[in-house]
Amino acid sequence: MSEPQLFDRVAIVGCGLIGSSLARAIQRGAMAREIRAYARSAESRGQIIELGIADSVHENPADAVEGADLVVLGVPVGANETIARAMAPGLAPDVTVTDVGSVKQAVIRDVSPYLGSGMHFVPGHPIAGTEHSGPEAGFADLFENRYCILTPPPGTDDAAVERVAALWRRCGARVELMDARHHDKVLAITSHLPHLLAYTIVDTAANLEESERAEVIRYSAGGFRDFTRIAASDPVMWRDVFLNNRDAVLEMLQRFNEDISQLQRAIRWGEGDLLQSIFHKTCEIRRGVIEMGQAGTFDAREPTKQDDG
Ligand code: NAP
Repeated sequence: MSEPQLFDRVAIVGCGLIGSSLARAIQRGAMAREIRAYARSAESRGQIIELGIADSVHENPADAVEGADLVVLGVPVGANETIARAMAPGLAPDVTVTDVGSVKQAVIRDVSPYLGSGMHFVPGHPIAGTEHSGPEAGFADLFENRYCILTPPPGTDDAAVERVAALWRRCGARVELMDARHHDKVLAITSHLPHLLAYTIVDTAANLEESERAEVIRYSAGGFRDFTRIAASDPVMWRDVFLNNRDAVLEMLQRFNEDISQLQRAIRWGEGDLLQSIFHKTCEIRRGVIEMGQAGTFDAREPTKQDDG
């Protein structure tokens, strides 16, 4: 027996990789009667129509959200304030608004002021993604077996939280509730710092002498290759993540600097036991990741789902 429809009209405001994947999953699961989409560029709007992943596509956020009972913000974190202001005149008085942004405190700060008192805001972050962007990069099972963290501010209507949680569960995700500040701290180490390191390592390689750079690319299978994939992630999205999760990222970077100094010292003074014991500890972490089913796929022919924001 098919499951009941969850929403009447869903508006996806920012229909790129994550927004379009959600639109596809909603369509596949018949979770809404109608899907409306907003995208900024004519090119993306054309692709959304061609792909048939929304019933209508709009160039104005207020038109896209008109009469919607669920609005999903899918734009880079730094664009939320402008988009929230632009869509506000079109919002229904009892709408539920959610988002998929990689940083949560900043989204709450930037979007809440534009929502009326009868509206519900349930910020969310699906821990799933790839290094690709835009509506053509999306796919319906992106969220399958991935976590989706919801960070409703205290006092948020329980029924609205449950409606958004049900949506993500129907997309195949495991839903967790978390305080926004805690989310930003956890993601700073699990996602934001690794992306920063990947960008740095690839940039360091790019700055090498011509001949050394060619060798790096030729022998990239020695570990560098995985960094290049992560460092190919969308520059605007990641610029916004670092600017909007500044404190937590700087704190993790400080810890990282201390730990790498320890490794540097151990290498300089030939402290093999210390190096080995740290590497043993990290093997344990990897085992834990595998046991929790979060190791991702490493098949180069498949879209990689582990590079989340
Ligand atoms: P994306 O593929 O680049 O899509 C972004 C969407 O937002 C597009 O529709 C784009 O329109 C629109 N947009 C971009 N800048 C805008 C602006 N300044 N004003 C209005 N619209 C704008 O990005 P994404 O990967 O789906 O990421 C969307 C959100 O999901 C981000 O907040 C990100 O932090 C979060 N997230 C990403 C991942 C990941 O791995 N990619 C994972 C989890 C969460 P055009 O196409 O017309 O430019």
